[in-house]
Amino acid sequence: MRVTESRRPKDAETHIGNHKLDPSTLMMGHGFDPSLSEGSLKPPIFLTSTFVFQNAAEGKRFFEGITGRSDGSGKAAGLVYSRFNGPNQEILEDRLAIWEDAEAALSFSSGMTAISTLVLALAGQNDVIVHSGPLYAATESVIDKIMARFGVGYVDFPAGASREELDSVMAKAKSMAAEKGGKVAMIYLESPANPTNALVDVEAVHAARAAAFDGELPPIAIDNTFLGPLWAKPLAQGADVSVYSLTKYVGGHSDLVAGALVGSKAVLNKVRLIRNPMGGICDPNTAWMLMRSLETLELRMSRAGENAEKVCAFLRDHPKVEKVGYLGFLEQGSRQKDIFDRHCSGAGSTFSLYLKGGEAEAFRFLDALRIAKLAVSLGGTETLASAPAAMTHLSVPDERKAALGISDNLVRISIGVEKAEDLIADFANALDAV
Ligand SMILES: *Cc1c(COP(=O)(O)O)cnc(C)c1O
Repeated sequence: MRVTESRRPKDAETHIGNHKLDPSTLMMGHGFDPSLSEGSLKPPIFLTSTFVFQNAAEGKRFFEGITGRSDGSGKAAGLVYSRFNGPNQEILEDRLAIWEDAEAALSFSSGMTAISTLVLALAGQNDVIVHSGPLYAATESVIDKIMARFGVGYVDFPAGASREELDSVMAKAKSMAAEKGGKVAMIYLESPANPTNALVDVEAVHAARAAAFDGELPPIAIDNTFLGPLWAKPLAQGADVSVYSLTKYVGGHSDLVAGALVGSKAVLNKVRLIRNPMGGICDPNTAWMLMRSLETLELRMSRAGENAEKVCAFLRDHPKVEKVGYLGFLEQGSRQKDIFDRHCSGAGSTFSLYLKGGEAEAFRFLDALRIAKLAVSLGGTETLASAPAAMTHLSVPDERKAALGISDNLVRISIGVEKAEDLIADFANALDAV
């Protein structure tokens, strides 16, 4: 139930004495007080479109919150209407914030709803967005096509860019904004980039921003879907907002679509003021499913990560394999390895397998898989495999595909929580069929 000063649930405790509780422990109770729901151990699903006010003055006070009149946060002191807030969504948001030690979180009906609402909240007419590349294709569409209709420009840079490159990107963005009569509205990152797996140096972006801007700084947002919230916590490296497609590892069972923004109150308040009128909040049933998912998040991600390590070790040495693009295999002494060591606590379970040959070899491999399913998406309990050049990136021009390393022999794999030995047997068998 909602956390207010007067009715703070007993389970909102995050410490025992000086001992700070781990997120995996807090997922079972944080933010929910059973005594407010008939003693129910688990939060009920609140299937209601609206909430009853105790009196008219309370209704007015709550609307002063929703409209931003009271403190500019868009957050009401109580429940109002299910497009604005709800118990399931609020518990979910409290729990999502825990993983990154964040001030706040907002839930959305999809990762793309989260991303487009964020961009709309921050960028105004004639502003400029700085972004790393490549981005998730739909995110690129939002920035490069939809926002362009409102005069919003962009400057992009390759994910692995150095501090020097970042300095010149910031300078370019500032002069573009001055020319257009707008501001640099935000810095949007995605790390690791899909499907190149290139990591962004968030610390370097943070330093480049500090050097380039004064006064109100453009917020740094980063899509943390691939490694978060377990293996990467970019708020700790200076990002203001961590962006999630909860559809992937957080949901984790390939049975829902949802998204979230996790991070600074100052930025998320602006987003809430846009989400309230536009809609796009996660529905109560999906929020409930996500709370169930969060209880096993660490178990699932840890197991998937360990599986990926074993599978990649097997694939790397196979004679029919050209290369395995896995974050656990970064070259010692390389800039990418340095970023990895500073930013990541695990290599994830999504990687690129380059077979010797071309499309025919990739297709024979995919068609021979027995355990791994042939589907796009990632982060579920089951192992998935796909061919980006022929599927997710089919419409990308050949030149750009080449630049991104999206070749016909590339197979994208997301490892699940099956038994590693069974996955290795499946891949060994499929490689024999190539
Ligand atoms: C899937 C995905 C998205 C979009 O999320 P949806 O939940 O499908 O809207 C955004 N970014 C990344 C990195 C993704 O993998």
